[in-house]
Amino acid sequence: MKVVAGVDLGGNAVNYTLITEDEKFLIEGLCEHPARSKEGPAICLQQISDGLDMAVAKAGIALADVEVVGLDTPGPASATGVLSAKGSTNFVHADWAGFDIRAGLEARLGKPVVYLNDGNAGALWGHFALFGASSGKTSISAIVGTGLGGGVIIEDMVVKGRKGFGGELGHVLIPYQSIKGIEGLHPECNCGRTGDLEALCSLTAIEKSFLPYFLTKYPGHELGKLGDLHKAAKLVRGMAERGDAMCRDIFRVQAHALGLFFDEMVNTFDPDALIVGGGAIETGKEFQDWFVSEIHAGMPVQREEQADIPVHVMPNGDTAGARGAAIEALKLLRQGGVA
Ligand SMILES: [Zn+2]
Repeated sequence: MKVVAGVDLGGNAVNYTLITEDEKFLIEGLCEHPARSKEGPAICLQQISDGLDMAVAKAGIALADVEVVGLDTPGPASATGVLSAKGSTNFVHADWAGFDIRAGLEARLGKPVVYLNDGNAGALWGHFALFGASSGKTSISAIVGTGLGGGVIIEDMVVKGRKGFGGELGHVLIPYQSIKGIEGLHPECNCGRTGDLEALCSLTAIEKSFLPYFLTKYPGHELGKLGDLHKAAKLVRGMAERGDAMCRDIFRVQAHALGLFFDEMVNTFDPDALIVGGGAIETGKEFQDWFVSEIHAGMPVQREEQADIPVHVMPNGDTAGARGAAIEALKLLRQGGVA
């Protein structure tokens, strides 16, 4: 039996999945091991290796059965997994700067390793979940979390781009001024742009822009009384799901921003599907359905031929990265890249 592994290296945990050659998942749900990435590459790569041993044992197979490993990490990193020389939030240890994490893991495990950034891995999983591994279809995924990640999958291939910044959807500018109910708002992103998708559709946007803006419209709101926007931001999704008017307004604006963004994608790629995922909609189905209907409501009128392009919610959100990385590994296995 040939098997591929998916390894999702997050800030605190490594998440694993295992898939057989015929696309059967050997691990359901989360299979985690502490990441220890703050302690640098030597310790972190050992942790990844130890965790893989545990995952393999849990699935009842041997490590020798794993032919290819797919790895995904937060960026910024090159298309082939060389981490940014400037360092990043998730890789603060000095030894990570400019580190080739793909090659490092390959040497550690003695198996071929393929690399995706976490947004692209999530997008590949969303695509696979809808269409399987070789459908020839095209999809765009937006993953709404602390920031906004995602990816563009064209005919089953991840668009990685020249330097690995393909699918950096969060920093695409959108015509937010046309969204109703946010007159006078200047949504600024950490990247320096005003009005890109992440500045309107992320947990960070709720904290930095929407709460300060909407709390003035809802004087006496309980989130204002908290006096802590960081804490308050994390409560908005749950309160929106329970029907709080201000929190619904915030999510409506985010959905309409996504609608404008997806409209740009429809006209650029004419895709088979648009996919939305991430913590923002890890909610009950009723709220997900409402959010998707608001995305549609936020889209300009589509031409007749494209009006039926569906918006889907990404399944298995918390394991999307590992699963997407495994799908990328499966591709290499099928290309015969492994002896
Ligand atoms: Zn930005």
